[in-house]
Amino acid sequence: ENAQTIELHVVVLGRKNAVIVTHDVTDREKLDSIRRDFVANVSHELRTPLTVINGFIDLAISSKDPGPVRIGREHLALMKEQADRMSRLVNDLLTLSKLEESSPDRAPETVNVPVMIRETAKEGRAISGGRHEITESAEPFCLKGYKDEILSAIGNLVANAVRYTPPGGHISITWKRSPEWLELAVKDDGIGIAPEFLPRLTERFYRVDKSRSRDSGGTGLGLAIVKHVLIRHGGHLKIESEPGKGSTFTMQFPTELEMPMPEVIQDSDT
Ligand code: ADP
Repeated sequence: ENAQTIELHVVVLGRKNAVIVTHDVTDREKLDSIRRDFVANVSHELRTPLTVINGFIDLAISSKDPGPVRIGREHLALMKEQADRMSRLVNDLLTLSKLEESSPDRAPETVNVPVMIRETAKEGRAISGGRHEITESAEPFCLKGYKDEILSAIGNLVANAVRYTPPGGHISITWKRSPEWLELAVKDDGIGIAPEFLPRLTERFYRVDKSRSRDSGGTGLGLAIVKHVLIRHGGHLKIESEPGKGSTFTMQFPTELEMPMPEVIQDSDT
């Protein structure tokens, strides 16, 4: 685990002298292994839907039946589902790779979090299809940050809350100041997470229950995206959870990022 890898280079200088240069390449090797795991994971995630789609295409090609094509609507629907799954994965991968670039080449903007929360809650209700009660509350202040990134982070947390909360459950989205942080929390009373899984939750492709995640459209990248959005804003992701009781995911932003709500522009006749 803690082994080090040292590379030795002997540099000969003239006839009598040589120097030995050592390089500690432990970190490089670790990165290599992370990269290999990542490529293996992505390949695996793409292979399954491709196999399904290819199977139906083969079926259509080999169909000798001269009558109506044997590939029916239900096959097309299944192919579409798998193609959608690949799109979601590729989109999440692109989002993540953009987030991992050193720093964005644009200035932060004023993010109207209360408005954003209202919209995300509405989207959450649409994904839930009325099976969950989704409530929201927000103190009236804004955040200095990157709007698209914060929107994608809250969207991921709300989608997860819906995904891992049985019908009839309650999900709340709140935005408030705490003494140390500006906190955007998504709380659910769903299946919860056992403590031993918590430390690895934000790793790419880490899932507690693989089939539940996949069946409900998860890519395994959502929390990795949330974590990177927070790193970019100098913040933290706090996760509290109890199996069978529910989970709270809190995005904590530095208080320096607080911005006033924009003035409501009134029509004036002067
Ligand atoms: P996924 O696409 O699988 O949801 P995420 O990175 O968003 O990937 O989440 C990683 C894992 O964390 C999920 O597979 C699930 O096991 C667990 N998880 C995330 N959010 C919740 C939640 N609100 N309740 C219970 N488990 C959760």
